[in-house]
This record gives sequence, structure tokens and C-alpha cells, in this order.
Amino acid sequence: MKILRASLFFATVFVVAPSLFAATPVRALIIDGQNNHDWKKTTPVLKKILEDTGLFQVDVLTTPPVGGDFGTFRPAFTNYQLVVGNYNEYPKGDKWPLDVMTAFEQYMKNGGGYVSFHAADNAFPEWPAYNQMIGIGGWLGRTEKSGPYWYYQGGKLVSDPTPGPAGNHGARTPFVIVTREPKHPIMQGLPEKWMHASDELYSKMRGPGQNMTVLATGWSDPANRGTGHDEPMLLVLTFGKGRIFHTTLGHDTEAMACAGFITTLQRGAEWAATGKVTQKPPKDFPSADKASTRP
Ligand code: ZN
Repeated sequence: MKILRASLFFATVFVVAPSLFAATPVRALIIDGQNNHDWKKTTPVLKKILEDTGLFQVDVLTTPPVGGDFGTFRPAFTNYQLVVGNYNEYPKGDKWPLDVMTAFEQYMKNGGGYVSFHAADNAFPEWPAYNQMIGIGGWLGRTEKSGPYWYYQGGKLVSDPTPGPAGNHGARTPFVIVTREPKHPIMQGLPEKWMHASDELYSKMRGPGQNMTVLATGWSDPANRGTGHDEPMLLVLTFGKGRIFHTTLGHDTEAMACAGFITTLQRGAEWAATGKVTQKPPKDFPSADKASTRP
């Protein structure tokens, strides 16, 4: 009997121990500090969304304010499997120091993960590697020189080199998101169409568009200063061994309350950090005609 108990004890230890290791959190770093959006309100929401998965341990690194001393801003990228961008120097903020840019490029080339969140795709128009990572961007003086305008037409992604500015949106409104890559791990099990809560719908985004897959689009309504095209809303890219999830969604905490925004961010972040998605779709995911928000 004693032997049996002892062996049960050891069996329990050995069964439990691997799951303890498996539960080691993915370390993520949100970078904020300058943005034409209310980063002081959105960063805590981003942090909570990631931590609610039970997968992530999230740190926040805030840059100096506009014109501040970036001498001590040296993110320890390699301590993290995921970096989340909530930084945008629009309209007259600071670029990151050159050695920080180089360190971030190296981190991504070596297999890092990045989430570009909403206006993070406005940032750094003159940083070629960053624009390769995000694929498309808008505003801050971007033009055809930044790359062609990318949109979805006839079931595929097309690029339009016609000269013009980059980045536009109409008044915020709820709109339908259409899945374009249902087999991608981030989209698997989610509906083909779902109603996103009131948000900005980015259009006329330009960039190099290399190693880029558009997971989902939104139709930009000409009656709301739109293009009449299906615009990229959720994207994935690779940069060296690194993976990027780019969500154009999430103007503010109201838009971020959408269960569709939350779910795609959680799944996109896991994919960018690990290359896999283990999370199941939630029961409150929006349907094609009904938005779903969380308190
Ligand atoms: Zn916005």
C-alpha cells in the first residue's frame, strides 16, 4: 500500500510538472508614450485583453513625451516574445533612436513577434524595415513613394500604384468585417462575416506589402468618405523569422470593447508570439448583423 501511494505521488508530480512548465507565460511588452490617440486609456485595456487569455505576462514601457530625452529609452526586446505597438509620433513627435530601431529590426529578424495596433500603422513613415513589418500604413506624409495602395477586389488582394496620399477614414460607425483567410489559425472557427462595434475604417493604406496576407477586410462606404473598396482590416506578415499581426481596428476603448476586436487581438497576439493559436472562439463573438461588446 505504501509503495502504491508513493508511486501515485510520483506519478502525480510527473503529470502535473509538465503542465506547470507549459503554463509559463508568454512575455509581452507594450510600447506607448506618444500617440494622437488616447494611449493612457487604451494601453491598460490592451494589457487586460492580453492577460485575460491567461497566456501573457505584460509589461508596459512608456517613452519620454514629445521632445523628451530618449537617452534611457532602450527596450529589452529580447526579453519578450511579443512587442505591441501603441506608439505613433503623429503629428510632430519623436522617432526612436537609431540603435533602438536597429535592435528592434534584429529582434524581429531573429523570430520576434509584433502586434501593430490601430494608429501604430501611422508611425515611422521613413523607417523602411518598420514599413516592411506592417506592410501598409497611412498618414504622416505617406504617398505613392511609400508603396502602392492595397485593397481587396474579386476575391484577391490588388495593389494600385496610382499617385496619391495614404490613409483616410470617415465618421466612426459599426461595420461588417469579412474573413478572407478562414484557414489561417487566427481566423479558424470565426464566422465569415461579423459586425464590428463603432470604429474608424481605415482606407487608402499604402506600403511595400511584402510577405503580407490579408485575413479580413471591411468595405469603405463612399457615402462616408470611403473608397468603395474592401480595405484590409486584419493582416499577418513575416519579417525574417519574425511574425507580425496588424490590426487597423481599435480607435478607442469603445471600439476595443467589441468581442470581435478582443478575440482577434488575443488570437493574433498568440500567433505573432508563438506561431500557433490555442484559444477557442468565445460564445459572445458578434454575428453578421449584431455587434457584441463586453463591459
Ligand atoms: Zn483612430
